[in-house]
Amino acid sequence: MAARRLRLDVARLFAVGAELGSGRRAYCTSQAFAEVLRLPSKQLTKLVFPLQELERHFVPGSRPDLHLKIFDPSLDDIARAESVFTASSRNRIEYLSSAVRLDHAPDLRRPEVCFIGRSNVGKSSLIKALFSLAPEVEVRVSKKPGHTKKMNFFKVGKYFTLVDMPGYGYRAPEDFVDMVETYLKERKNLMRTFLLVDSVVGIQKTDNIAIEMCEEFSLPYVMVLTKIDKSSKGHLLKQVLQIQKFVDTKTQGCFPQLFPVSAVTYSGIHLLKCFIANITGNLKTNGFQFS
Ligand code: GDP
Repeated sequence: MAARRLRLDVARLFAVGAELGSGRRAYCTSQAFAEVLRLPSKQLTKLVFPLQELERHFVPGSRPDLHLKIFDPSLDDIARAESVFTASSRNRIEYLSSAVRLDHAPDLRRPEVCFIGRSNVGKSSLIKALFSLAPEVEVRVSKKPGHTKKMNFFKVGKYFTLVDMPGYGYRAPEDFVDMVETYLKERKNLMRTFLLVDSVVGIQKTDNIAIEMCEEFSLPYVMVLTKIDKSSKGHLLKQVLQIQKFVDTKTQGCFPQLFPVSAVTYSGIHLLKCFIANITGNLKTNGFQFS
């Protein structure tokens, strides 16, 4: 059934591309994503829906506690989201500015999403992967922990702003709490906070700084599990189940579905882009309502 749906989606997608011809810039993304769609179905699932790939290790329906498909866009939806993240003369994706205090932040009306996580969790790498179709955007990736000391604002066309928050934990800037807390509490156009957790080590004590802030301010947030290429399938499964249990039992504002990603293999990146496009009101995935 799933394989049939996949083939139908793929056929439809290619048909749309052919109809529009080469003159329509937005559908160049479909061509880039078409490379992904050419993959055999097992590889495609692993790349696009990494959480569902883990499902193969269970008896179907035996883990209702693992929320696999609350957000379950079609490949068509995912291809559309790619166009939001593709830079062109009509869709400028660029670094805007940095700020150490909220009153230095650009006064923007566009919806905003922010990425937060402890130093070295893979935040810059993830943002770079999200902007892979905008190669001119400079996102610093460092081997040294804690290099991001400011809030960095990136404009994604007319669609939304993405904010890279300073890393917390080891060598976090001293005024981190003031800076981040004020931003999270007072930023009016903040639609969702993406809280990064390293899938290799799971939720650490320092991660609770951000979790507690999100919970205290009743912010809607999403847990993104980074570096999933680094673990064995068994280890990843164990971490995912543990983190899922934490989300289900200890959080109020966290989106129930986890988003595992790898900035190395790009696994989960397309799905995350599609989620962001929905969250910021730029795409409407059938059957899914964001509150
Ligand atoms: P930040 O401090 O949170 O911005 O983390 P970085 O993006 O600078 O990443 C910290 C380290 O983890 C770097 O050495 C990255 O190359 C590595 N890294 C980041 N993401 C991944 C990933 O998805 N897979 C693997 N294998 N390594 C990653």
